[in-house]
Parts: sequence; C-alpha cells; structure tokens
Amino acid sequence: YCDKIEHYALLPARTLEGHTLKVMANVELFEEIPSVLKMGADGIGLFRTEFFYLQQKRLPEEELLYEYFSKVVKAIKPYPVTFRTLDMGGDKLSSALKFEKELNPALGLRAIRFCLKQKNIFRTQLRAILRASAHGDIRILFPLISSLEEIKEAKELLEQVKAELEEERVPYKTSIPVGIMVEVPSAVTLINFLIREIDFLSIGTNDLIQYTLAIDRSNEQVAYLYEPLHPAVLKMIKEIVDVAHQAKVPVNVCGEMAGNPIYIPVLVGLGVDEISLNAQNIPLIKKVLCSISFKEAQNLAKKLVTFGSISEVRECYFNTIGKWIERI
Ligand code: PEP
Ligand code: MG
Repeated sequence: YCDKIEHYALLPARTLEGHTLKVMANVELFEEIPSVLKMGADGIGLFRTEFFYLQQKRLPEEELLYEYFSKVVKAIKPYPVTFRTLDMGGDKLSSALKFEKELNPALGLRAIRFCLKQKNIFRTQLRAILRASAHGDIRILFPLISSLEEIKEAKELLEQVKAELEEERVPYKTSIPVGIMVEVPSAVTLINFLIREIDFLSIGTNDLIQYTLAIDRSNEQVAYLYEPLHPAVLKMIKEIVDVAHQAKVPVNVCGEMAGNPIYIPVLVGLGVDEISLNAQNIPLIKKVLCSISFKEAQNLAKKLVTFGSISEVRECYFNTIGKWIERI
C-alpha cells in the first residue's frame, strides 16, 4: 500500500484477491500518447479516430490517415491500440463532411450509419487502418452497432478492403481482432447473436445510458436524470457480461463510468474484464482497484441487480462502498 497516487501508475490493477483487470486509455489525438505510457496504461482501449478528421479542413486522404495511424501504432508499441472507426455525426460535425441538419442528431445519421452510407469515406479509413496494422498490434472497433446486419456489412467491407490490399501486395496484419461498441439498447437485447460475429466488445456507457434512459447526454436540463446506477443500466451490463463470458469474449467498458472511481466497485462486481478511461485518471483508478475485494464486489453487484428502483440501488451501493472507501 502506498499513499502516493502516482505510485499506482506502475502497478498492475489487481484486487485484494489478485483478480487482475486490464486498464487501457481513451485517446483522441496522437499528442496524448506520452501521457498514456507514463500513466501505466496497458494500451489504448479506445482511439476516437474522428478527432483527427475534425482537425482537418478537408476530408483526409488515405495517405495522410495512414501516416497518422502508423505514428500512433508505433508510439504505443508494444501495447495494442483499438481504433474505433469514424464516429462522426450527432454532436461531432466536421466542416469537411456534408451533414444535413437533423432534428434529433443523437438519433440521426452518425457513426456506423454514416460510414455505411458514405462507403468511400469508410473504405478509405479502413484501408489506412489496415495498412497501419503492419507496424504493430491493432484492433478495430465499430461504433453504434444496433443490428446484426450492420456488423455483417461492416465486416464484409473490411474483407473487401483486405482483398484489395492483397491484390495490390500492400502489407497488413491478417489476424486483426474486430469488435463492436455496445451502446444501443437493441445491441444488448441481441447480444447473444452479435457475440458470434465479434472478437471483443466495449460498452459505451455514455451512449448506452443516453439511449436506455432517453436522456440527451448533452442536455443540461435533464442531466440530473442521467444515472449510471439506474437498475436498467446495471441489468444491461450484467446481461452483456454473462453472454460474453459464456462465449469467452472479454468485456471492456470505455464510457465515462469507467473513469470515475465511484463506479469501479460495481463494474468489477459485474465481471467487467477491462476498462478504458482518460489517462490522467489511471493511477487513481488503479489504486481503487488494488483496494477492493473481488468477492465483496461480486456479492454487492449480485444484490444491486435485484432492485427495481434507483434509490434502492444507490442506498445499498453507497452504504456498502462507504465502508470500503476507508481502505483506499
Ligand atoms: C460512449 O458512448 O460511452 C463512448 C465511449 O463513446 P463516445 O463518448 O465517444 O460516444
Ligand atoms: Mg458512444
């Protein structure tokens, strides 16, 4: 045990019983990578590729994207990087791309929907990511998946792009894990079908809470209703973990919930295998992980999912972890 938070950057994230979680970083731009390494991340669990596009005046061409992604892959080596394909639209609009004005942008043409409609943009990004894979360890993550068809279509396109590269004799890694963001309620309902199509998954709690509770994540008027401990949210996470573990697929959580020390006990208790968060919070989150008991967290989570009201969950949760906090 050590008082200094920075000390925990260098330690594995291990509960009192030795149950280890992978702690990865959420990254928006290349410049953050030195801090990711310094804070002791096991790699990049979520690289939000849209931020590079947002910096450009024009739509970036393949070569520019390839150089950028390669730079990321080489800088994080030997750790892996999970490239999330373009999650544009909604609240992230680029002047380089033409977006129609929408009445409900969060329910509109964003993320994978946009990419499957603008296939040339998607294809160019996939080519650049695949080419960058020749330089290190990468994974590909599709955002906002809401049906089996979307995964299949995205994977089919990925295979087409691979075949093209092969024909052109351009090098890339053939064994790249492909995963989905689970952040739309329909993906949770269908998780037993979707799981067969993927190598890993990442729960995007920011959007999953938004769409499950019908609370616009950017609307301050309803921010007080945005509740990670809502029993419906906890039940969904439990369902995802149960199905994924049966299929031997690891579960990552990359929403803000994973970067907040308050929610670490419930995520661990629900059986999450990996978390991905802003690099600055990693030492603190590791410290919390090192101070909790996996068994106690499991028992707590088991109890939490029996409640039907937010207040019961919150009361039980904070009463219990209140006692644990003294150990942190
Ligand atoms: C999420 O939805 O939880 C997530 C991590 O993705 P983003 O915040 O980029 O939508
Ligand atoms: Mg999201």
